[in-house]
Amino acid sequence: MPIDLHTHSTASDGTEPSDIVVAQAARAGLDVVALTDHDTYAGWPAAAAAAREVGVDLVRGVEVSCSRRGVSVHLLGYLVDPDAPGLLRELERARESRVTRIDRMVELMAADGIPVTIEEVRAQAGDGTTMGRPHIADALVASGYVRTRDEAFSDVLRNGSRYYVSHYAPDPVRAVELVREAGGVPVMAHPFANGRGWTVDDAVIEEMTEAGLAGLEAHHRDHRPSEVRQAEELAARLGLFVTGSSDYHGTGKENRLGENTTTAAVLAQLEEQATSGVEVIRVRRP
Ligand code: AMP
Ligand code: ZN
Ligand code: FE
Ligand code: FE
Repeated sequence: MPIDLHTHSTASDGTEPSDIVVAQAARAGLDVVALTDHDTYAGWPAAAAAAREVGVDLVRGVEVSCSRRGVSVHLLGYLVDPDAPGLLRELERARESRVTRIDRMVELMAADGIPVTIEEVRAQAGDGTTMGRPHIADALVASGYVRTRDEAFSDVLRNGSRYYVSHYAPDPVRAVELVREAGGVPVMAHPFANGRGWTVDDAVIEEMTEAGLAGLEAHHRDHRPSEVRQAEELAARLGLFVTGSSDYHGTGKENRLGENTTTAAVLAQLEEQATSGVEVIRVRRP
């Protein structure tokens, strides 16, 4: 029973609407999929309707952008109460700051003669979307400056680029507390994926664990085999469970649905820990 606990839709930087992501999950033969857009719950309703229609179980979640002294941390929050005010406020604050930050990055790039405008980037993102660098990438693809998102990320959009601008994001320990306050289950996404930027050290993950962290996403494309082991060992030492996921972004990344998966036993633990009343949408299969 393949379980994939990390995907993105057009509510953030995926390329397919959330109902299509769920339909693709069914086509890929998944039994359970989680929708975890960056800093938003906007994709939940359409995903829930699609789950019932196509017959795949759905875990509603979010990927919370966090930052510790400039180092980015992504925290998956599963089955959170979408009305919980503390978490909602932080997500809104991050989303607003992402808009200003994208504007600033585009200004810097345009001033250097790179063919991109704020209007083009907004048009790529669409309304109500959590803005991110991938939307700048899409505008650069549209203008013919690069061929793919990947190419944009290895050049002008990379973390150390002169055009890089950061945005507001809560501290990861605070985010763990807020996910728990929202009755959800916090799992740290790709904890050792340092191919694209700095990652926090074990001491920060220990602090997060004290605050209520439940698991580590060990099985992820951005982890080398040694980093998968590192995550598994740290999880064992700290008493955390281990998940695996695709981090699917539609055609925006090579990640394929179900390329990494989570065990049914871990999903059961995750469900048991949730206190929000937001349940896994279970679809009866023949
Ligand atoms: P941002 O959150 O705006 O700083 O952008 C980072 C996001 O861009 C990550 O969460 C990924 O979803 C996406 N991303 C990172 N690297 C790449 C890449 N090489 N190709 C496509 N998307 C990427
Ligand atoms: Zn993303
Ligand atoms: Fe992430
Ligand atoms: Fe992600």
